[in-house]
Parts: sequence; structure tokens; C-alpha cells
Amino acid sequence: MKVIVLGAGVAGIASAWYFWRDGHEVTVLERNDGVALETSFANGGQLSYSYVAPLASASVIPKIPPWLLRRDSPLRFRPELDLDQWRWIAQFLAACNTATADDTTQKLLRLAFYSRELMHELVGSNAMDFDYVQNGKLVVHTDPASYESAKRLLEYQRTLGAEQEALDAKHCVEIEPALESMSPRIAGAIYTPSEDAGDCYKFCNELKRIMTSGANPVSYRFGVEIQRLLPWRGRLMGVETNHGVIEADAYVLALGTNAPNLLKPLGIRVPVYPLKGYSLSLPIADDRGAPRISVTDFKRKVVYARLGGELRVAGMADLSGTRAVIDGERVDQLVSEVKTAFPKASDFRKLGPWCGMRPATPKGMPVIGNTPYANLWLNVGHGALGFTLALATGRILADLAAGRASRIPVDGFTLH
Ligand SMILES: Cc1cc2nc3c(=O)[nH]c(=O)nc-3n(C[C@H](O)[C@H](O)[C@H](O)COP(=O)(O)OP(=O)(O)OC[C@H]3O[C@@H](n4cnc5c(N)ncnc54)[C@H](O)[C@@H]3O)c2cc1C
Repeated sequence: MKVIVLGAGVAGIASAWYFWRDGHEVTVLERNDGVALETSFANGGQLSYSYVAPLASASVIPKIPPWLLRRDSPLRFRPELDLDQWRWIAQFLAACNTATADDTTQKLLRLAFYSRELMHELVGSNAMDFDYVQNGKLVVHTDPASYESAKRLLEYQRTLGAEQEALDAKHCVEIEPALESMSPRIAGAIYTPSEDAGDCYKFCNELKRIMTSGANPVSYRFGVEIQRLLPWRGRLMGVETNHGVIEADAYVLALGTNAPNLLKPLGIRVPVYPLKGYSLSLPIADDRGAPRISVTDFKRKVVYARLGGELRVAGMADLSGTRAVIDGERVDQLVSEVKTAFPKASDFRKLGPWCGMRPATPKGMPVIGNTPYANLWLNVGHGALGFTLALATGRILADLAAGRASRIPVDGFTLH
């Protein structure tokens, strides 16, 4: 059948991949001049299969007031005259309880483990160059109380199949010598050997290369702005664009933070709101000064991944409207975080600053699956985990659209 994928971020590209592999005639529509030029461009690069616990949890509530008051806090909130923002906050606060967070963690872990399996299958059977490494991850705690609660979470996650180890500061530096400068502050860390990292932009471009070089190539139409979805008797009959109406048999909507705008006129509400984050791409100056294992500074919510010759540093979550505009103060804060954690990693002359809008849902669960319109499928709301989860959600959609059972249950991820 003819399938149109709306949006060429990592969610759209992964969907295109699995529909293409099923033999469908796939067209990807994208307003930019290439793939992965919005939120999927310079994200943290972490394939964070075992770190999926949502931001919304009971433990986050007491942290909110200091986060809101301090200008350098990892999470910032700027109220807008926007009902969607307030609705999102109300749903987020309602999800901040242990029962919901545990349920979300369990479902996301299942999805992430499935994604890991698909990633390993993908890189095992295709030659792909996207700075991919199976390098493990250290989540470093500088606060003893948070280390203790991380150890408790480790026990819980172990029951769900995550293989992790708690390490003291000395042991951390033994396995990652670049943590030497940080070691006096380290209370302990959780080490997960099975985590991967890679460059999401290159990943999407590599998938595109493979999909356009074989038989039945995927067609990419860039510079196409989707203006309206055209419903007709319980189905979509086409999408209206700046290049006219484009029609297909089935439509996969993967429009990131713009999804609610296109869905609302159809009466479909997806609770996606942009959570702005920042990254730096620092050329590595001293090989021993930059970590080889991916590192997360838990308290500062900053992640570090070595991608080829660069150190990718990402963090911040700003609930501050819908515009992806870089705030220089946030970039300075991120630079200062790296200078404290890995002072020798870079000479800091080239920073590669970037900001992106995470398509966040209040609970931290993507919205996938069917809609009240028989031939319209959703793949949106991956929040802070789009690179990690995209293969699983893309594969699940292709299975469901083909009438096959999904390998893992989709309850909790669907619209209703
Ligand atoms: C700072 C930061 C760090 C992150 N770190 C990680 C990480 O380490 N690991 C991880 O797994 N995830 C990470 N993420 C999250 C991840 O980047 C996102 O979840 C993911 O990129 C979302 O992909 P998407 O395809 O849903 O959205 P997008 O990449 O935004 O793609 C949506 C596409 O739709 C197109 N589009 C929208 N509207 C229209 C329209 N009307 N017409 C045509 N085209 C349209 C856009 O141009 C865009 O290309 C991070 C995010 C940020 C911001």
C-alpha cells in the first residue's frame, strides 16, 4: 500500500524504515531540506535503554520550588498565556506519584529493551556509520541521599530485567579515568554496561541512505509544509500541503511537537508540549580528559557522550513556550557544567551550541497506535527518549498496520 510518513525526525524515519521493510510504497514529507533537522539533530546521543524512569515522580515534587527559583536550575518554567501549557502542567503534577511512575517505568523499560534488541539487529545486519558505540553508562550521584534512592531503584529495575551495578567513587574512576576531577564530589554511581550511544542525526541519514539505495526506494519530499489533514468518512483522504494535496492509503503522523496543532482540528488531543533542552558538541582536546563511557550527572541532569571526535553534552528542561530559540545564559551554564566535570575534555573554543524541543507528554510515555481515523497512525511524544525508543515504536506501528500482533503490549501508549 501507499504510506505517507509525516515528519522526518527519528520517529518518522524509524517508521518509514519498518513500513519500507514490509514492502510498502513509502513517501516521507518534511518541511525542512533534510532529515533530522529539528529535535533529532543534536540530542544527547544516549541510547538509554535502562534509564527510562519518567520526570514525573513523587520525588520530583519537593525539588520543584528550588528548580523554579534558581536561574541555573536544570528545570525552568516560564508561564505562558497558553491553556495547553497549563493543562500539561496539571497532568504532569497528577502523574507525580509512585504508582504512576512505577507503572510508566515498567512499560517504558519493556519498550526500551525491545528497541535495544532492534538496534542490535539493525547494526548487526547493515553497515552503518553513526558514531555508534556499545560503551555503557555511569549515572553519577553527588548527593548521598540520591545515591541511596538510586540503589533502591536499581533493585526494582533488576526485577524487571535491567543489569546494573552500584559503584563507589574509587571504582568509578577505575572504569572511567576521565572522572578524576569530579571524584571528590562523587557519592556513588550506577553502572549499566548494556547502554549504547550514537549520533541521532547521522543515524537518520544512514537509514535514509539505505532506504533510498535499494529496490523500491523511499521517496523523500523536502520543503513540504503540511497544513491540514483532510478527513473523509472516518478516514484520511489526503494531506493539504504547500505543494497541493498529497494522497496515500495510510498515514503515519510523526510531527514531534507540532503534532497537536495538526491533530486538534480532527478532534484528537495528544498531550504533547515542548520541553526545551540544550546541547554542546565539543571537539575533544585531550583524549584522556573526555569520558569513553557515557556519563550522566544526576543532580545537574547533564549527560555526556563521546561521539566520534566530539563530546556531546546535553541537558536542561525548560517549559518556556514553543519557540526553539537559544538562550545564551543556558549555553553558558552548560559550558560551566562541563568545565567543572571534565575540564580537560575540550579547549572550549568551538562549542557547537544547539537547542531542541522535546515532544514531552506529562507521564513521559509516547503516544503510538491507531486513531479514530482508520488509516491514520500516531508515533509522537517520545520526550527525552526519542532516539532510544524510535525503532521499537516504528516497528510496532508497522506491525499493527499490517494486522500483525505487536511483540509487546501497547496498553498505556495508545490514545485511549
Ligand atoms: C537537549 C536534548 C537532548 C536529548 N537527548 C536524548 C538522548 O540522549 N537520547 C534520546 O533517546 N533522546 C534524546 N532526546 C529526545 C529526542 O531528541 C526526541 O525525543 C526526538 O528527537 C523526537 O523525535 P521526533 O521525530 O518525534 O521529532 P522531531 O525530530 O522534531 O521530528 C518531527 C519532524 O516533523 C517535521 N514537521 C513538523 N511539523 C511539520 C509540518 N507542518 N510539515 C512538515 N514537516 C513538519 C519537523 O520539521 C521535524 O523534522 C533529547 C532531546 C533534547 C532536546
